[in-house]
Amino acid sequence: MEGQESTYNTLKVKNNKSQHQVDTSPPITTLRSEQVLIFRLRTGHNGMNHDMFTKFKIGSTDQCPCTAGAMTAEHLLQTYPLYKVLRKRFWSQPTSLQNKLFGCLDDLRRTATFARETQATI
Ligand SMILES: [Zn+2]
Repeated sequence: MEGQESTYNTLKVKNNKSQHQVDTSPPITTLRSEQVLIFRLRTGHNGMNHDMFTKFKIGSTDQCPCTAGAMTAEHLLQTYPLYKVLRKRFWSQPTSLQNKLFGCLDDLRRTATFARETQATI
């Protein structure tokens, strides 16, 4: 792909605890809306309860409504029971979070479409 080298970037994302290197290697997807979604899921800057509560003290808890854990990208993509059936439709085999967020273009598209279908606010 032409110009690929120049588009390999890393972005330093600060949070209270540490600095993470977030790989923003392109092309994460071709649709901007999908790129934004994947970026938000990767970085944790996504408006989910955990993000809003821990960073901005907005809301009363960082927990998911299912009460099984904090509402994070990982919870949404991997364990939130409400989306078990939907998850199975997208990933018939157990799939790592790493694959869902940093896999190939098809993986990322699948993740973005899944996230959209959950109608979670991201
Ligand atoms: Zn939950």
